[in-house]
Amino acid sequence: MNYYSTNKQAPVADFREAAIKGQAPDKGLYFPERIPQVDPELIRNLDDYSNEEIAFRVIQPYVGATIDEAQLFQIVSETVNFPIPLVPVTDQISSLELFHGPTLAFKDIGARFMSRCLGYFTKDRKEKITVLVATSGDTGGAVANGFFNVEGVEVVILYPSGKVSPVQEKQLTTLGHNIQALEVSGTFDDCQAMVKQAFADPELTQKLFLTSANSINVARWLPQQFYYFFAYKQWQCKDQPPVIAVPSGNFGNICAGILAMQSGLPVKHFIAACNVNDIVSAYLSTEILQPREAVPTLSNAMDVGNPSNFVRILEIFNHQFPLLKDKLSSATISDAATEQTIGEVFRQFHYTLDPHGAVGYLSLANYLQKHPEQKGMFLETAHPVKFPDAVERNTKEEQIIPASLEPMMQQPKQSIFMAPGYQNLKEYLWNKV
Ligand SMILES: *Cc1c(COP(=O)(O)O)cnc(C)c1O
Repeated sequence: MNYYSTNKQAPVADFREAAIKGQAPDKGLYFPERIPQVDPELIRNLDDYSNEEIAFRVIQPYVGATIDEAQLFQIVSETVNFPIPLVPVTDQISSLELFHGPTLAFKDIGARFMSRCLGYFTKDRKEKITVLVATSGDTGGAVANGFFNVEGVEVVILYPSGKVSPVQEKQLTTLGHNIQALEVSGTFDDCQAMVKQAFADPELTQKLFLTSANSINVARWLPQQFYYFFAYKQWQCKDQPPVIAVPSGNFGNICAGILAMQSGLPVKHFIAACNVNDIVSAYLSTEILQPREAVPTLSNAMDVGNPSNFVRILEIFNHQFPLLKDKLSSATISDAATEQTIGEVFRQFHYTLDPHGAVGYLSLANYLQKHPEQKGMFLETAHPVKFPDAVERNTKEEQIIPASLEPMMQQPKQSIFMAPGYQNLKEYLWNKV
């Protein structure tokens, strides 16, 4: 399988090259030359297959010969080695719990797959790869955990001081070894700007092999298809495919779901569940994509004003707006409605939502009110304990940190404090090698 750049100016790349580069040299996103079809027999008999087997069958055509099959099977096994249950919340609505991985967020799946692929690709290289990433919380933890102790890869994570939750901060700062956290006395946007400048600095990129770990990277984006198949495996009414609501920020997750559908997975409809950063909602009514500055919300992993993966969704539908509108709608959920939903769902159904899941739940519930004959699921993308303030305020129940995290919570924080500004980051990276 080859990948072309959505900007159409760069040469095609195989999976290996696309995964190592991250972004295409013309600043486009890599996209597969064709969308492989999953064997209909597999879809009909998903129950007979283990999650590892399903994941392997889904991803193998995308990887091609760049990773040998036994190694790839090992990589997918390690990627999906935790439960991903579909939990009924009401008669009509189920929750696909993607938060049972090591950092309690769905990003674990993409990060675990990507890190193992990069580890495999760098085995024989002399030069180390440096993964540079800015995080508002969730990405950094999943990336740090995924890459921990992967040989040949150094990870540098920038996060805004005082603006991530206590669990998130521990996840970023307690691993050590090849993981370094830079605590920036500024905002997420400051961190992001520093990282962007590093990638654009020819002097630095001559000296260091830099790559990013966001969902632009095909090795993080594509494995996110796995759990849509696992969800359907657990779906009870196979003759009535689900409506799926996906809490969306950069649109990597929902785009992977749409790709799975185009490969043959039965899905009735997708809902992009957004907070007030809803430029895609505006697009679906005007056909104009108008990026704007992100506004901070409770579901802060979705505070994105220019969703980078949306161009891939357009690509899947061949830029044909009517096709896209038929399969995708969107919803905008305010912080007030998010809080109210956390409280109501807890009281009525004894289910605890995190703010991102609450946006997904309400988007789906509103849709099903207009389509009462249908059923659906929302993706619960993070564990509620990662967002204790909003959850406890509305459920009036204390969030208990899972026992599996206790050892980490006891570890001392290790970070390097840094003022915003690219020069500070450059100096640090320069002296590191
Ligand atoms: C990253 C994230 C999202 C948004 O996912 P995208 O792929 O960027 O759309 C939603 N919820 C949580 C908890 C996240 O960490």
